[in-house]
Amino acid sequence: MRKLTILGATGSIGDSTLKVVAQNKEQFSIVALVAGRNVTKMRQLCETWRPKYAVMATADAAKELKNQCQELKLNVEVLYGEEAMCQVAALDEVDTVMAAIVGAAGLLPTMAAVKAGKRILLANKEALVMSGQLFIDAVEKYGAELLPVDSEHNAIFQCLPADIQTKMGRCDLSGAGVSHILLTGSGGPFRYSDVSTLSSVTPEQAIAHPNWSMGPKISVDSATMMNKGLEYIEARWLFNASKEQLKVLIHPQSVIHSMVQYKDGSVIAQMGEPDMATPISVTMNYPQRIDAGVAPLDFTQLGELTFLDVDFARYPCLKLAIDACYEGQHATTSLNAANEVAVDAFLKGQIRFTDIAVVNEKVLSNVCAANSSLHSYDLETLLELDTIARKQAQQVLKEH
Ligand code: NAD
Ligand code: MG
Repeated sequence: MRKLTILGATGSIGDSTLKVVAQNKEQFSIVALVAGRNVTKMRQLCETWRPKYAVMATADAAKELKNQCQELKLNVEVLYGEEAMCQVAALDEVDTVMAAIVGAAGLLPTMAAVKAGKRILLANKEALVMSGQLFIDAVEKYGAELLPVDSEHNAIFQCLPADIQTKMGRCDLSGAGVSHILLTGSGGPFRYSDVSTLSSVTPEQAIAHPNWSMGPKISVDSATMMNKGLEYIEARWLFNASKEQLKVLIHPQSVIHSMVQYKDGSVIAQMGEPDMATPISVTMNYPQRIDAGVAPLDFTQLGELTFLDVDFARYPCLKLAIDACYEGQHATTSLNAANEVAVDAFLKGQIRFTDIAVVNEKVLSNVCAANSSLHSYDLETLLELDTIARKQAQQVLKEH
């Protein structure tokens, strides 16, 4: 039986993970659940799943959860704060950690699981974008097992030979005969909109993704295609891919979740319903396949599959992310931080949709100018850069 900690248990990935566990109850047990502030949902999860530990981000949320659990006579230890999150990610009795906290807040708990040598099911792409080589080195040093949950990376993983699947972060793509990774993206809700109308789109419109149901931050990132940019950086690290080996392709139907092109001309694609239960299932009991509870793809109902080149004028955030990827770790860490601040401001109605790219661009160019000589990074430096970039983004918003 696999014993799980779920970081980000109350979110969209948390939901899908628990849906897979519910389908395969005899194979998994839940040791710890971690979330931000959603006490009501966490209490429901505690009632259903009876974890040993439940961790919230704040003391207030934990106090409220503790009261509710006591009323229900639930035998759960309620904790709070980042240190407790790190502890439950590293427990001896846990072997598998779903890393699905959104944003930079997920870095330290995920890193704690890496340092404890766990099997890491990585959904929290921001953690890898923020720490890159440091994360990959830690996976190797501490003997952790890294499996990608992000649907594109999970698709690519499935399209690669089995011996490479156990070498995430240090695989030899060209040695395996790979010529390209084709990272696909739907283009989000505004792929056909007139670019001049994008400045007036609302948060409701931006989070209404045409194919996938996801949390608000990643939904906005999908609309700007910053999500694909973060995924580009994620792919660079997971698959040890060079610039020449990594291409982005728009595929509006999201039937193909990404592809690998080999030098003999073969292209291997992974397809399925757009349901995160599939990639989650692939990682949960890897290398065995388990029932995800997902409807089989009905090819007679699919219609046409189409593909388009990326238009960077429509998606300036994607261009920024690709440029940052080759600028260096300081650039990707800062871009990720700036973007979190900008997306939050957009969701609160403080800036326009098109301002997200403006804020990101300003912070990125400031940080690059100030840090271009930085070449080695420890965790402290990266967290400092994250803080500086957030402050700069707030400053840009103020002057806006
Ligand atoms: P979500 O907003 O639905 O859920 C986020 C989770 O993180 C919640 O449980 C929330 O309580 C928790 N959280 C937020 N701040 C926290 C903090 N400070 N401390 C502890 N927990 C905190 O987001 P999501 O859509 O589930 O995405 C989660 C991660 O997975 C993101 O990094 C996203 O990019 C990635 N991802 C999501 C999908 C998807 O389909 N939803 C697909 C691929 C990758
Ligand atoms: Mg994805």
